[in-house]
Amino acid sequence: MASYDDDNIFAKILRKEIPSFKVYEDDKTYCFMDIMPRAEGHCLVIPKSPCRNMLDASPAQLADCLATVQKVANACLRAFGADGITVQQFNEAAGGQEVFHLHYHILPRHEGEKLRPPG
Ligand code: 5GP
Repeated sequence: MASYDDDNIFAKILRKEIPSFKVYEDDKTYCFMDIMPRAEGHCLVIPKSPCRNMLDASPAQLADCLATVQKVANACLRAFGADGITVQQFNEAAGGQEVFHLHYHILPRHEGEKLRPPG
């Protein structure tokens, strides 16, 4: 597996070199809106420390991210009146990953509504 490259878009977002719409932040994680939302409220949770994807994440990075995923998912249920939440996470290009900094998609869902296609 390739190593972490800090030229990726999410590393630039963390360094504030490119803008993002912040949803939540703590000392270990950052959550922001996806630029091409596949559902109303689609946002992304990332660790602040370098990590290519789940395959090279430390147990602490996974725990920190999932704690934030849970917080934001519950907030999304209330904020968007969602009926459920889909959490997605991709690893390597063959696994569907496009940005190589660990991230979790949080997708608020409503009964009977399909996710919009990517892009
Ligand atoms: P994945 O790597 O899981 O396939 O998808 C990366 C996600 O990052 C996509 O949903 C895409 O819309 C989102 N994304 C890509 N570039 C940017 C960006 O510059 N800003 C934000 N907020 N999201 C981005």
